[in-house]
Amino acid sequence: DAYVKAIDQANATFNAYVATTPDKAREMAKASDARLARGDGGALEGIPLGIKDLFATEGVHTQACSHVLDGFEPRYESTVTANLWADGAVMLGKLNMDEFAMGSSNETSYYGPVINPWRRSRTETVVMPTTHQGDGGFVASGGAKTARSYDNMQLVPGGSSGGSAAAVSAFLCAGATATDTGGSIRQPAAFTGTVGIKPTYGRVSRWGTVAFASSLDQAGPIARDVRDAAILLKSMASVDAKDTTSVDLPVPDYEAAIGKSVKGMKIGIPKEYRVDGMPEDIEALWQKGIAWLRDAGAEIVDISLPHTKYALPAYYIVAPAEASSNLARYDGVRYGLRVPGKDIIEMYENTRAAGFGREVKRRIMIGTYVLSAGYYDAYYLQAQKVRTLIKRDFELAFAAGVDVILTPATPSAAFGVADEDMAADPVKMYLNDIFTVTVNMAGLPGIAVPAGLDGHGLPLGLQLIGRPFDEETLFQTAHVIE
Ligand code: GLN
Repeated sequence: DAYVKAIDQANATFNAYVATTPDKAREMAKASDARLARGDGGALEGIPLGIKDLFATEGVHTQACSHVLDGFEPRYESTVTANLWADGAVMLGKLNMDEFAMGSSNETSYYGPVINPWRRSRTETVVMPTTHQGDGGFVASGGAKTARSYDNMQLVPGGSSGGSAAAVSAFLCAGATATDTGGSIRQPAAFTGTVGIKPTYGRVSRWGTVAFASSLDQAGPIARDVRDAAILLKSMASVDAKDTTSVDLPVPDYEAAIGKSVKGMKIGIPKEYRVDGMPEDIEALWQKGIAWLRDAGAEIVDISLPHTKYALPAYYIVAPAEASSNLARYDGVRYGLRVPGKDIIEMYENTRAAGFGREVKRRIMIGTYVLSAGYYDAYYLQAQKVRTLIKRDFELAFAAGVDVILTPATPSAAFGVADEDMAADPVKMYLNDIFTVTVNMAGLPGIAVPAGLDGHGLPLGLQLIGRPFDEETLFQTAHVIE
C-alpha cells in the first residue's frame, strides 16, 4: 500500500511507470502473506518490484514503450518475471524505457521522457563549445560558444532502463528488472545513484523478453544497494529450455559473497579507458575507487585492452543489424498496431511508418544496410571479427591473473532533458556507452556501483568487470566500494 501510494503521488513528476497494477500487487501480497503464515515463503516474499516494459507479463501492458505494440498484452510470462513471482515478489507495474531499449536517456520512449529524481544542487550557467564536422569526425570549434542556463534543469535518468533506475532511486519500488544490450542497466544506475548488474551472457534466460540484439541482450536487476542486487539476480537467473543460450551452471548464493575481504585480489586498471576530455570529477572518482580497493588489501595492476577504441563503432553495427532482423516481426499482423492500406504491403508500410519512432527507424536502416549483399563483408563480418579481438583482450587480462577490472561507468554525470547537442547528433548520444559496450561485446558480467557525487551533487558510478560467470567477485568487490 505504501508503494502504491508513493507511485500515485510521484509518478506524474517522474513518469517512471507506464502502467500500474495495484490490484494485482495487493492480490500477490496477500498470497505472499499466506505462504509466509504457512512457513513456506520464498526468497522475495512480499517484495514489491517494478518491471521494465520489455518483459512479457501475462495479461499486463507489454509494449517495449513503442507505439507499434499498442494494446499488446501477452498470454505468457517471461522466464525472468516468472522466476521472481515464484520466489514471492509482487508486481507494482511496468516501467518506462527507451523504445525497444534503443537509447541512453529514456527520451525515445513513446510515453515520453523519465525525469531523474536527482537535481543539480546549485544553479549555474555553463558555456558550451559548439561542434562542427571536421575531417576526423566531430570536433569542438574554438570560436562560437553558446551559453546555457542550467537553472532548475530537469535531468535524464539515463537509458534505456531509465524508468527502472528512476523508480528505484525515488523509492517507487524496492527493486526493478532491467536489461542491458550496451549499457542500459549500468548507465542509468550510474546516473541515479543505484546499483545495476549486467550478468554474463547466458546467466539469465532471455525468453519472453522483447529482443533488441539477441547476441548482446541480458537482463539484470537495478537495486538500492549491492546486497539487494545480489538477492534479485539469484532469483532472476536460471537455465531455461526455452532459451538455448542460457547456461546450465548452478546459480551461486551471491549474497554470501558480500562482506568477504578483497585482500590479495588483483584489480586491473585499463589505460584505454582514460579518454580525452573525460571530466575531472570522473577521473578523480576512478582514483578514489583505486585507493579504496588498495586500502582494502587488493593489488592494483595496469592493464591494456588495446581494441577498446573499436568497441563502440563495432557495437553500432552488430546491435542495429540484429535489431533490424528482430524488428521484422512487427508487421501489423501479429501484434499491436495496425494501420490499414490498400493492400497488405501498404498495410505493412503504414503500420511500420506510424509505429516506430525516429531512433528505431534509424537502427533498422543502419541494420539492413550493413547486412545487405555487398556490404555484409565490409561491415557486419568485420564488426564480428573486431568483437572477437575485444573478447580476446579481456581473456588475456584475466589469464594474466587479473580478477576484476575497474573503470568509470559513464563518461559524464546525468545530462539535461532535450540536450541540444545530443538531439543534433545521435553519435554524441551513442558516446554514453563508451565504457559499457565492451562488456556486452565480450559477453562478460559488469556492475555499476554508486561511488560518489560530482561537483554539482550528482551521483557518479564506477564499473567492475569480471570473468565469465563470476558475478560473485563483482558483488564482493562492489560492496567494498559502495
Ligand atoms: N544505449 C545503447 C543503445 O542505444 C544501449 C542500449 C541498451 O543497452 N539496451 O543501443
